[in-house]
Amino acid sequence: MSNWEYAPAPESRDIANLKPAYRMFVDGKFVEGSGDPLKTVNPATEEVLAEVSTASPSDVDTAVKAARRAYDRVWSKMPGAERAKYIFRIARLIQERSRELAVLESLDNGKPIKESRDVDVPTAAAHFFYHAGWADKLGYAGYGPDPRPLGVAGQVIPWNFPLMMAAWKIAPALACGNTVVLKPAETTPLTALVLAEICQQAELPPGVVNILPGAGDVGSELVNHAGVDKVAFTGSTEVGKLIQRALAGSGKKMTMELGGKAANIVFDDAPLDQAVEGIVNGIFFNQGHVCCAGSRLLVQESIADELLDKLRHRVSTLRVGDSLDKNTDVGAINSRAQLEKIQELVAAGDAEGAQRWTSPVPVPDKGFFFAPTVFSDVQQSMRIAREEIFGPVLSVLTFRTPDEAVAKANNTPYGLSAGIWTEKGSRILWAAQRMRAGVVWANTFNRFDPTAPFGGYQESGFGREGGRAGLEAYLDV
Ligand code: NAP
Ligand code: MG
Repeated sequence: MSNWEYAPAPESRDIANLKPAYRMFVDGKFVEGSGDPLKTVNPATEEVLAEVSTASPSDVDTAVKAARRAYDRVWSKMPGAERAKYIFRIARLIQERSRELAVLESLDNGKPIKESRDVDVPTAAAHFFYHAGWADKLGYAGYGPDPRPLGVAGQVIPWNFPLMMAAWKIAPALACGNTVVLKPAETTPLTALVLAEICQQAELPPGVVNILPGAGDVGSELVNHAGVDKVAFTGSTEVGKLIQRALAGSGKKMTMELGGKAANIVFDDAPLDQAVEGIVNGIFFNQGHVCCAGSRLLVQESIADELLDKLRHRVSTLRVGDSLDKNTDVGAINSRAQLEKIQELVAAGDAEGAQRWTSPVPVPDKGFFFAPTVFSDVQQSMRIAREEIFGPVLSVLTFRTPDEAVAKANNTPYGLSAGIWTEKGSRILWAAQRMRAGVVWANTFNRFDPTAPFGGYQESGFGREGGRAGLEAYLDV
């Protein structure tokens, strides 16, 4: 037998250009916030990466006022073709600084470098490129001949795709003529602050983009600020509901991108080896910290044993560890708190009688890691079938008929995404029509493209990001 062990292939962390301290970005300048500074850590090593200043309520007020000035005096008056040039420059600068951004993202978030390099950063750039193209064509988007922006957008994003989520929020807002105050997640503020540097490099007029690091209280202060016209939130359903309650009757336009518990359905005629790759991508990409993760595998009973054998074999080859190693498939869990949440739900799966299989892959002693896990014999009533685990844990259920597959897939309070694996085009269309999910992938999974609208049904939220539909969220229509 040959030895197929990999040698380490670490990316250099010097590329991240890590600074000991980062400051918030307001009115075109980096300034000290008057909140308590936070320390952001590398979840793969538990080492402190940098100290980051945070915003106080009065800093939120200053930032919102700066955004308002920039909106009234400059950005809302600028012709779309001029706005487009700035957005295009931001896209180009993301590409130019892509290695730096990728390494910094992997350090701060824990995700594997191959993902930050090949998915997060290119997708972030793609969102700016795409929306640069819309800025002077809004009159042709189907929202009237001269659709107007909304004003100041208050945006709050989670830690799972820090740069990509910032791009999804900022690019359409700017294209439509709005200005922005954005709060990144407490555990992953760094790449948003490099994006702020990029805004400076692109000579974006001061106040058009403002970035305020801090915890949930800063997010709450921001969305509730009277000077904010539009709230765009991505995060948990729980916080999304809280914000909706607080803003009810305020007249603020809202979009909510919340949690999910997607079904990935494999029919008996599916190409199994491809399906296995799609299942792996669906749940182990980004350690399963993906709102649209294929966290419930629904497999037709007649092929369940064969598929599960193939799946376990494939999953046991996934390498867990150093996020900067180019061979790493599954990186670190973003925080101790998230690791504990995963452990709690896995224990619930054990207690409720599901069959747990854990990959025998070695896992580092230091840092926050969780080995890829597959639960079979899962019943719909179990917590691991109903609740979002947001980790590398797959719950496998079976079905006999297509109707049963659809019924089980839709048996969730969420509705963000779904996957269908079958050889038959007619079955894809049949199932996709019946799926109560914002995004349905067929014979693929976790494909993100700025031209395709993304968003949820039910408790997964409302409003769309990306595509023509995504523009509506930032226009007065
Ligand atoms: P979270 O706790 O809801 O946090 C999301 C963001 O909201 C963070 O920046 C957070 O700050 C902030 N926040 C917390 N409390 C707030 C409040 N009362 N008012 C305003 N902002 C507040 O979610 P998470 O656990 O970080 O992220 C994971 C969740 O996001 C999952 O449920 C996942 O499905 C969802 N998600 C959805 C999408 C989508 O597009 N649908 C995409 C990615 C993630 P802190 O950082 O300080 O907590
Ligand atoms: Mg961090």
